[in-house]
Amino acid sequence: MQIAVADNKDTGHKVSPGDLGGSCRFCGTKLRHTFVDLGMSPLCQTHISLEQLNHMEAFYPLRAYVCHECFLVQLEEFVAPGDIFSDYAYFSSYSDSWVEHARRYAEAMTQRFSLNATSQVVEIASNDGYLLQHFVRTGIPVLGVEPAANIAQVARDKGIATTVRFFGRETAREIARETGQADLLLGNNVLAHVPDLNDFVAGMKILLKAQGVITMEFPHLYRLMDENQFDTIYHEHFSYFSFVTVEKVFAAHGLTLFDVEELKTHGGSLRIFARHANNSALPVSPHVGTLRKRELDGGFARLETYSAFSEQVKDTKRSILEFFIAAKRAGKTVVGYGAPGKGNTLLNYCGIRQDFIDYTVDRSPYKQGKFTPGTHIPIYDPERIRGTRPDYLFILPWNLMDEITGQMMYIREWGGKFVVPIPQVKVF
Ligand SMILES: [Zn+2]
Repeated sequence: MQIAVADNKDTGHKVSPGDLGGSCRFCGTKLRHTFVDLGMSPLCQTHISLEQLNHMEAFYPLRAYVCHECFLVQLEEFVAPGDIFSDYAYFSSYSDSWVEHARRYAEAMTQRFSLNATSQVVEIASNDGYLLQHFVRTGIPVLGVEPAANIAQVARDKGIATTVRFFGRETAREIARETGQADLLLGNNVLAHVPDLNDFVAGMKILLKAQGVITMEFPHLYRLMDENQFDTIYHEHFSYFSFVTVEKVFAAHGLTLFDVEELKTHGGSLRIFARHANNSALPVSPHVGTLRKRELDGGFARLETYSAFSEQVKDTKRSILEFFIAAKRAGKTVVGYGAPGKGNTLLNYCGIRQDFIDYTVDRSPYKQGKFTPGTHIPIYDPERIRGTRPDYLFILPWNLMDEITGQMMYIREWGGKFVVPIPQVKVF
């Protein structure tokens, strides 16, 4: 059921939110069904400076739709990726556990696909070289493709060949000409950020050698829904994939998913392995059928399953606010840890500002001295926590909970406690 939001007096026609959706970025079907509406929100990476505090800020609707044909959960594109990613403030190397994840990946792929000095590894959205450095160390040729010039420069300074470009068919043809096709073509947490999904996947097909392998990691929609991870929805994150849907997308471009792994990263991700449809040298692993069946049994090909998510999100918001209200009534201090994209969604959707969180901290110097978008919570160096001794440390990047609690264990010296909001509010 949809709620009318406006009356057009001239025609008497009711305009409902369902009429506002564009077309599915994979199959082109008109989007009619809301997955979840998180209200108005600013872009998550636009941390604002002191001078900007008195200026207007752009807010965009944060409403996710689900396509009733292919079940791709998606947002409309409000801002061109060129504006979002050209000067990005996310440096992967600031997360120790993510760098370690990349190291283990490089080791596993080198072994499984027998990569050596004659192979070519290409990473799309290679960030600051946090992953490719592990291949470089073992003498395997690499190329990073990274749209943010400032981040690509950091990678080059480390000696990692990097080209500053957005990826799609055109870039794929250029790279294939310049440096050759890839034996291993990978992209971690990029598929969700791609506005033109078909152009991107078609580009991967072009850049892949006949016997080559593609691996992609992205947050698994199954886990998002199962664990209330509504804050992983933000404007820069255009698509949310189940395995059954991503399989359809790749198949439409002549690529077969021959294996899949479930990972703990980002609250639960999938790592898919793709190859050319006609490359039967790589047999399809039983994991593929098992996961497909689990999703189909879980209702991932039925619209009702997706419509139920909204209520779950509202309930999660109420629990988060209950924690803050109780803490403030008891005269406690709460500070945040991290200023990640997901934090922006959570803070804006729940209406959490300095009335609840005194300040937050982040290890990235690019964020320190700035303020969270929309909610204007100041961001400092983590060292500030030692001086102010807060009662609660509210962890916004809950996916890095273990790493952060390890680093911040010293808050126990003054009886400080950790709080994570997702999947349920937990104080410990
Ligand atoms: Zn669709």
